[in-house]
Amino acid sequence: MAIPTEREQPFRERFPQYVRTLDCVHCGLCIQHCPTHAATGREASSPRGRIYLLRGYAEGTVELTPAVRKHLDECIVCRACESACPSGIRMGEMMEAFRGEMERQRDSRSLLYRISMLLLRRVLPHRRRVAWLSNILWLYQATRLQVAVRALLKLTSRRLAELERLQPRLPRPSERKVPTDRELPEKLYPAFGKPRLRAALFLGCIASDWFARTHRATIRVLQRNGCDVLVPDAQTCCGALHRHAGLLDEAEDLFRRNREVFRECGADVVVVNAAGCGAALKEPPAAFPDGLGIPVRDICELLDEIGIVPPIGRIDRRVVYDQPCHLLHGQRIGAEVVEGLLRQIPGIDLRPLRDSDRCCGSGGVYNVVHADLADPIGREKAACIREADPEIVVTGNPGCALQIQALLDGAPIEVLHPVELLDRSYGRSL
Ligand code: SF4
Ligand code: SF4
Repeated sequence: MAIPTEREQPFRERFPQYVRTLDCVHCGLCIQHCPTHAATGREASSPRGRIYLLRGYAEGTVELTPAVRKHLDECIVCRACESACPSGIRMGEMMEAFRGEMERQRDSRSLLYRISMLLLRRVLPHRRRVAWLSNILWLYQATRLQVAVRALLKLTSRRLAELERLQPRLPRPSERKVPTDRELPEKLYPAFGKPRLRAALFLGCIASDWFARTHRATIRVLQRNGCDVLVPDAQTCCGALHRHAGLLDEAEDLFRRNREVFRECGADVVVVNAAGCGAALKEPPAAFPDGLGIPVRDICELLDEIGIVPPIGRIDRRVVYDQPCHLLHGQRIGAEVVEGLLRQIPGIDLRPLRDSDRCCGSGGVYNVVHADLADPIGREKAACIREADPEIVVTGNPGCALQIQALLDGAPIEVLHPVELLDRSYGRSL
């Protein structure tokens, strides 16, 4: 008898989360928290609907038609349903497994697919290649080329024109550099005063270059709060985008590389300032049940745990905090942690933001791939922000920061990481 190949086996046998789909009791408590359900009003685009489809597909009672596939693909993996569900549904893990399956079954290899795979496999795991591509983008922005392309896209493709607008304004190359242990004389950034802790900073892939200013602020705030800071040069991308895209083997390989680096670097804790990366590093692939082998903390979580030196520089500005899904639902770090830190800044007018726990529509590259759904979700977020009339929006995830910046469409509102605001206050007290 011929043994079925992996691809011929029914999905259920390669879907360990199948049994978790049976936990759904159809109560519907998750539905009002789901951004794609709010945007479409369709049951199939709700958590309950997606679990029904996944279960049916695993049992062989639901065929994977283009319509079914679309409903599943359109999940942002914001994981708001996980926080709402009394049965402990794990939508993030289910969608990862499903996307891994889709990747295994993929037949067509369009040009767009090939480019995205090239970026995921050959660029993002290498910070120097990310920096090289960023330099090209910076040149594009710094010359008249961008103006010409924008004018052309305005006339030819509304969709491409919108996508073009999503790119952030890149600082010059010298301002995008964070020296690592390869370049630092003492191999670390020393704590101010007696060290309490040795922290290793996680840089990420695109964020290592585009959000260098956030990394530098994180280092300064950690130093000021008694942490020696290491920045291991050999670290790599967290693999979150690979997991979203179903590239589970690649994500596992990246996790293994980071594990080797961080376990060996001599730090007490790995500090992450991007909510998506933090969630990926805290939730290891099955091959690594003990994770990175060293504690992982979001920067705000760590500062809250160790207690901060009170910042005394005044910041007389109206501020709102928007909660990244992967901090709130992925890492279960609520607004009280971040707002508790921000409230210590003298002069700050921290205002409530309606639906601050609602997804902004960023979702890794969701706003690029599913713009038709990301648009209404994003517009709702922009309306909530405008209603609160802030001068600064604070959020702890690079993807959310880029999305919010684009949504604000040139409005005079700064978008900052919470640690940048703390750093600003510390800087004013010198
Ligand atoms: S992860 Fe987010 S988008 Fe997906 S089903 Fe859950 S709430 Fe909806
Ligand atoms: S809240 Fe949980 S149990 Fe209830 S319908 Fe949603 S996924 Fe199912």
